[in-house]
Order: sequence, then structure tokens, then C-alpha cells
Amino acid sequence: MSSTKIQVRGQPLPRILTRNHRMINSVLCGVPIKRHHRVSNALRTIDPPLGSVPTRTDESLFFRGDGNGRFGRFGGKFVPETLMSPLRDIEDEFNFVLSDHEFQEELTTALRDYVGRETPLYFARRLTEHYRNISQTTGGGPEIYLKREDLSHSGSHKINNALAQAMIARRLGCSRVVAATGAGQHGVATAAACAKLSLECTVFMGSTDIEKQSSNVLSMKLLGAQVKSVKGTFKEASSEAIRNWVGNLDTTYYLSGTVVGPHPSPLMVREFQSVIGKETRRQANQLWGGKPDVLVACIGSGSNALGLFHEFVGDEDVRLVGVEAAGLGLDSGKHSATLAVGDVGVYHGSMSYLLQDDQGQILKPHSVGVGLEYPGVGPEISFLKETGRAEFYTATDEEAIQACMLLSKLEGIIPALEASHALAFLDKLVPTLRDGAKVVVNCSGRGDKDLDTLIQRVMPSSLC
Ligand SMILES: *Cc1c(COP(=O)(O)O)cnc(C)c1O
Repeated sequence: MSSTKIQVRGQPLPRILTRNHRMINSVLCGVPIKRHHRVSNALRTIDPPLGSVPTRTDESLFFRGDGNGRFGRFGGKFVPETLMSPLRDIEDEFNFVLSDHEFQEELTTALRDYVGRETPLYFARRLTEHYRNISQTTGGGPEIYLKREDLSHSGSHKINNALAQAMIARRLGCSRVVAATGAGQHGVATAAACAKLSLECTVFMGSTDIEKQSSNVLSMKLLGAQVKSVKGTFKEASSEAIRNWVGNLDTTYYLSGTVVGPHPSPLMVREFQSVIGKETRRQANQLWGGKPDVLVACIGSGSNALGLFHEFVGDEDVRLVGVEAAGLGLDSGKHSATLAVGDVGVYHGSMSYLLQDDQGQILKPHSVGVGLEYPGVGPEISFLKETGRAEFYTATDEEAIQACMLLSKLEGIIPALEASHALAFLDKLVPTLRDGAKVVVNCSGRGDKDLDTLIQRVMPSSLC
């Protein structure tokens, strides 16, 4: 009998899961159903327990996961059997291109000449002085550096991954790419990469996000993409994009913008973003002959954070700090702080921390940084939390806006409101650090897309 099965570590799950097709649809596409929590209950019965964390033998290998998309109990491939074969094709191609000279050369050239890499590691002198003055320290205080992903082509780190995955789509013989976008940065990056590689591109976007991020919608259209409006926000748009992919597997590639989804998506996106951390190590070495002491990045789902962190996970003397969106406050219910208040479940094909109610229903995230509005985080981020390797904090909408204005005025750089969450945390972090400590903040994107929001929030009181 060929029933649809969900696979965990290559093993079919117990019947309780394989029978219920609506549940499978729910797990994959986030279609709300009642009793979703039965999934996690069923998983607890599997032997060995998925909660077991591998023994810590080799530091760097430990944090690389098991290579099959498992990071401790997180990750996996919770998908119907029909998707196992296309996912395996993608995985094979990904593993192949990792060591394929031709692919790597084409990617390196495109990252240099098209994206504009490497991006600078910029010493933020006035921001450093600002914190020195506040703390009235007699020593020099910590030094703050920005990794300038905002200077990447199309305005954020998203292009690193979009370009590389579009190259994989082309190699797989797909003529069409679908993607979902929230703030529109991933949509623009994907549309640009598809134009460059002559691939048809359809971007799904929530109707409320389309209103908020109109300049990015216009860019996507100019870049030749079709923008499809989906009632709701990114959550609904991503479910719709996945559904569209599942219905057109022969021709279409689903290009994930971040480190979520079933294996190999989280691994692939992290690999293509890890260029950020590799450059940072080299640049730090050139600038001060050492490593950074603290790396700080905002957490939407974790791609810019892992991109910066991954190179350093084996360096226990480098602190990894992620900052989530506390929105209007953690008690308000209007935030995107998955690690701070969420718990573990299965969504969009993998197991990770999620924002869900006690019925297992996914909650609507909120942040002024629209790119942070995802009700989960990538499995590898969950793993870094659970193992204590990385630390996670939050910043509110208001704190992010203040940090955005501060950087604009002190350094002449308008950061994206997403990246502003990482910058906002400096207020709390810097006073705790020793003199001369080197802090690298990932400036994941530029704020041009946020001008309307910023002007509404801060005009006329502070700008005029
Ligand atoms: C999309 C986006 C983010 C959030 O996504 P991650 O996967 O967590 O990096 C952060 N900053 C910018 C500028 C973005 O466009």
C-alpha cells in the first residue's frame, strides 16, 4: 500500500502520523488544524528520543549538525513522501556543488562582481565614542565594527543565498523559481538573481506587507518578477509559495530565503550565507590581528546571524549574541521573540522553536522590522540556544527605531529596521564589556525600504 509517509531520519513515522493527510498538509504548509500538538506527542514515542543531544566530542563538528539536517532534536524533513524525491535531488546537487570547481568559481565571481563582495568591516568610530562618552570610562571602552551587508547588491545579505540557490535551480533544469517574501528583501534578491540567470520568477507576498513595502514591490516588478498578493502576511505567503511549488515540481524550484524548512534548506542557506563570517575572520585578522570578541546579529529566522556566527562556533572565546524582536513588548502578545517565549514544534517541514498557542496553532508575529516577522527560527538557531553556545536577547520596536536614528546621525548609515534590533542591544551590551573588546554587529541591510515607516514614526517631532 502506498500511503503518504512523513520521514524522520529516513524512517517512516508511526501510523498516527502517516494516516492523517490533513495533518501532513498542516505540518508542511502551516494549514491550521486542531490537535496539531499530536505531532509532537507522537514524536516522543520514537526511539531513540529526538530530544537526545549528541555527545560533545569535537566542538566544531558538533555544531555542524549531523549532515542530514538534524541539529540535536531540531531540524528534519517533515514532509509528505512526494516531496522526498525532489528534496533529495536538491540535496545531491547541493552536496555536489560544494566541491565543484566550476560552480564555486562562478559563484565567487558573481559574489565579487555582481553582489559587490567582500563587504567592508567598518570601524564605527563615532558610535564607539558615543558609548565611551555615556559610560564616562577612563579607558577606551569597547570598539564597535559593522559588517556592511547593507552595501550588498539589492540592499541586504539575502542576495548571497538567492544567487547561489538560483544557480542550483538552473543546474537542476528548473525554468521557474517561486519564493515568499515579507519585507520584500528576499523577493528583490530572488528577482534579481532570476533575471541574471534567465529564470522565470514568481514572488508571493502578504497583502499587508505589499502595502508597507511598496518600493520593494516595484523593484521586483521592474526586475521581471510576477508578484502575487496573498491575503495576510509572510506566514500566509510562504505557505502559498510552498503549495505552488508542490503543484509544479517538474518545472519549479522553491527558493527559501532563510534557514528554515525541511532539510537541506537550513543547511544550504547557512552555507551560502557563511561567507559573511569567513570574510569577518579575515578582515578582523587584518584590522587588529585577532578575532572579534562578540558577534551581534538580529534574529528573524537566523540566516544573517548564522552567516556571521557559523565560522566562529568552534571558537569558544567568541561570544555569539542574537537579538530577537520584542515588538510592543513581550507581554503584549505583539512580538516576534520566538526563542524568548516560544516552544518546540513542527512547522514548514522541520522541528524548531515556534510561536504557538497551547493548541499548537501558529501565532501571528509582529515587529516594526517586517523581515523579522516569522513565527519560528531555524533549527540550527534553536540548537545554539539549547546548547548554550549562543546567547539570545530582545529589543523592542521603539528601541530599534532609536538605534536606527542613532546610527544614521552618528555614522551617516541608515540601517534596516531589522538590523537596528542588533544595534539597539549595544546599549545593554557595551557597558558590560572590557576596554578594547572588539564587537562586530551584522548590519544586515540598508534602511531605504523603511523610510516610510521611519518618517511616520519619528516626524515631525525629531527630524524637522
Ligand atoms: C530578511 C532580513 C532579516 C531577517 O532574516 P534572517 O534570516 O534572520 O537574517 C534581517 N535583516 C534584513 C535586512 C533582512 O532583509
